[in-house]
Amino acid sequence: MIGISEHIKKQIESYSFKPLVYRYGTVTGVSDGVVWVDGLSGRVFGELIEFDSGAYGMVMELMENRIGVVLLDSDDRVGIGDVVRGSGIVCEIPLSDGIIGRVVDPVGRPLDGRPYEGKVLMPCERPAPDLVSRRSVDTPLETGIIAVDSMVPIGRGQRELIVGDRQTGKTTIAVDTIINQKGKGVICVYCAIGQKASTVANVINRLRESGAMEHTFVVVSSASDSPAMQYLAPYSACSAAEYFMDKGCDVLVVYDDLSKHAVAYRTLSLLLHRAPGREAYPGDVFYLHSRLLERAACMSKEKGGGSITALPIIETMDGNISAYIPTNVISITDGQIYLESELFHNGVRPAVNTGLSVSRVGRAAQPGAMKKVSGSLRIALARYREMSVFARFGADLDPATKALLDRGEKLTGLFVQKNGNTYSLSEETALLTGFSKGLYDAVPTEYLREKIPDMLKYLRDNIAPVMSEIDRTGDFDAHMEQTLSNAIEEFLSQNGGAENNKEADKETDK
Ligand code: ATP
Ligand code: MG
Repeated sequence: MIGISEHIKKQIESYSFKPLVYRYGTVTGVSDGVVWVDGLSGRVFGELIEFDSGAYGMVMELMENRIGVVLLDSDDRVGIGDVVRGSGIVCEIPLSDGIIGRVVDPVGRPLDGRPYEGKVLMPCERPAPDLVSRRSVDTPLETGIIAVDSMVPIGRGQRELIVGDRQTGKTTIAVDTIINQKGKGVICVYCAIGQKASTVANVINRLRESGAMEHTFVVVSSASDSPAMQYLAPYSACSAAEYFMDKGCDVLVVYDDLSKHAVAYRTLSLLLHRAPGREAYPGDVFYLHSRLLERAACMSKEKGGGSITALPIIETMDGNISAYIPTNVISITDGQIYLESELFHNGVRPAVNTGLSVSRVGRAAQPGAMKKVSGSLRIALARYREMSVFARFGADLDPATKALLDRGEKLTGLFVQKNGNTYSLSEETALLTGFSKGLYDAVPTEYLREKIPDMLKYLRDNIAPVMSEIDRTGDFDAHMEQTLSNAIEEFLSQNGGAENNKEADKETDK
């Protein structure tokens, strides 16, 4: 008994009273997720604000006596006169290695029904790495899509925009790229912004089914979430990517899509009474995306050597890439993959317009094998496009032009690739070797397109050592080239490619 009272006495003696001092403010206005608060000075931009109902908001407008707060959840719990206090912390996302394979919201709350706990808190907004901590992009990020890897190659640490109208296969290219990173040591982040929850669920299912969730996690703010959450999502996803980059990992982030992000920001800005500019976007909408994409980087060896590759997606209206947001993002990124709905509807899928697509840094990171076989493709395609205009008039064409058109058609046929069916480097090299050596000249395009899967299987079965050597080293010499073209020729002759062509010729003669 004495022991206990002694113990309590000691506790009372050692108790030191430290009053907690908070600065309170009062809500003076609530409208569509934006709250005006008076009397809460000394706040910083992006700070979390706590309402007495338990709701949370983020400071987005700082005035002399007033602050504008955007609510992170629905606004039905906040009313005029409510008491508010600053938390002293800016918006953060909890992170740990356990996030891989998970689906979380922009503030790190799990959305897949399992508990998730982060070990480190990282602010959603962070400054981009400075110049001296970076190095040039020198490692390829293979998408497994032959049209992209050969014409618009992407390097680890690059920012490549995917731009196109609605339903042109933008998400598919990004998701296929994520799936193709299996076993390549790249951690992937898919950040869904302002999309329908059902569309996001489909993407997550595709990632799960293909086993890509083993190296991927998803940050979601769907169309039904508050604009503040949609605004925050890409920054949170980028912070999560930086968590892994700082450990020296290569990371790929897909922002799907930034047009919806810009719209969410426009909503917030208008509600915060900021002056509307072109297309009603606020004046700082360029900074919105430039500060995000500048965080993609390839770090120097001293800084761990990690990288963040960014694949932002932008949706255009009626193919208009010179609208405000598309031009902004095109000027920020290191190139773009432009998808065209006309090509898509003509069955050229992925609908990459090779004339308008560019990659400004990826060529330096392209594997030697791909560099060798893809050097002349751009010119061949440009000449094909130029000539195909004349062919449309049904003009009588000379044999040289006919051959040129035929080659262009073959190449376009080679670029048609089913979604979810990615190629390895050796397979892409083989397909393009056949083209550059003119082995397909005697084969009709339709037949070639049909036979590609069989041909690749034949190559994998018969010249496996050469194929795996290309995949391993990324290079190939004259001997390997010869082996590849011999095998392709063998396959075509065994499968009656040449006869098929003669029959096709007879048909046209008739
Ligand atoms: P949204 O504008 O709605 O976001 P999107 O541009 O992201 O659309 P996707 O959702 O990727 O387009 O693709 C649209 C449809 O086209 C999907 O049904 C998809 O299966 C199909 N598709 C995309 N790429 C290919 C392909 N290479 N081969 C066959 N079908 C494809
Ligand atoms: Mg999409």
